[in-house]
Amino acid sequence: MRPILEVDGLRKHFPIAGGFGSGPRKAVRAIDRVSFTVAEGESFGLVGESGCGKSTVARCIVGLVTPDEGRIVVDGEAIAARKGERGRRLHRSVQMVFQDPFSSLNPRLVIGTTLAEPLAIAGGLSRAQIRARVGELLGEVGLPADAAAKFPHEFSGGQRQRISIARALALKPPLIVADEPVSALDVSVQAQILLLLDGLRTSRNLGLLFISHDLAVVRNFCQRVAVMYLGRIVEEGPVERVFARPMHPYTLALRDSSLPPDPAARDRLARIEGEMPSAIDPPTGCHFHPRCPRRMPICAVEAPAWTALDPGGVACHLHPPTPVSPATNRGI
Ligand code: SF4
Ligand code: MG
Repeated sequence: MRPILEVDGLRKHFPIAGGFGSGPRKAVRAIDRVSFTVAEGESFGLVGESGCGKSTVARCIVGLVTPDEGRIVVDGEAIAARKGERGRRLHRSVQMVFQDPFSSLNPRLVIGTTLAEPLAIAGGLSRAQIRARVGELLGEVGLPADAAAKFPHEFSGGQRQRISIARALALKPPLIVADEPVSALDVSVQAQILLLLDGLRTSRNLGLLFISHDLAVVRNFCQRVAVMYLGRIVEEGPVERVFARPMHPYTLALRDSSLPPDPAARDRLARIEGEMPSAIDPPTGCHFHPRCPRRMPICAVEAPAWTALDPGGVACHLHPPTPVSPATNRGI
């Protein structure tokens, strides 16, 4: 399958303003050497606890944040090259759906205007054609055509998220980044929105980067998943393998705490020792070592290398890389 998104070695540290004394300037190490790809027509999940850096990854991909290092290629074109006409083309190739459908729509604009805006900016369509396209978009997300004349406050949360999705689809992007798109919605509505996104993915061959803290949703909705911990991807692979046989102790703990066999025992993250440390001063070596039940002396000293599995991979000293010739080592 053709990759629609390639992220390679992404790093972003946010410097902290102010501070005292003359020590080294501190920074929030939001993301560190993050690499993954999303194929055409694929739903790829990025999971982790809040603060692990997954939203920063999303914001780098859609151009809201400039990474310090690394490469992002969307539909064959590097994002660093986004300037002028090429930037506008690139902007059309990736759109974002946000968590909160209440704040992501302009309350003073009727829906028709919100949906027409990107079409008008892109140019090339008459007013009548734009009106027709707005009607089509509403139909595609399951809303009646007369929704165009209404304001955001006249819709429910689920309907507003449908409108956000319609806006993201307006320019027919091959890639959509959805950051916790259903977490603000009631469970019954969540299923409808996921069904809608899944239908759009298959009918349009859309690549979806699906960012979520909810493993159950990712397991049902995505084909592959990457697990993030404190700015780094610790494990990646097909969802069935990752959730059935997690290889990283963090993935295992996350799975056991959020996908218990008995829903009555749901006790989110209770079985992971301690709290996620601060990204300002992350632990040495493997970031997970202070909480890891399987830590070894090397874990506090050396960050584990990425061990490629077929498919996917893991970064943990329990699974050291097998020596490979440089030609086959992808080096991620
Ligand atoms: Fe645990 Fe060590 Fe693996 Fe980190 S590298 S997850 S501390 S065993
Ligand atoms: Mg977030």
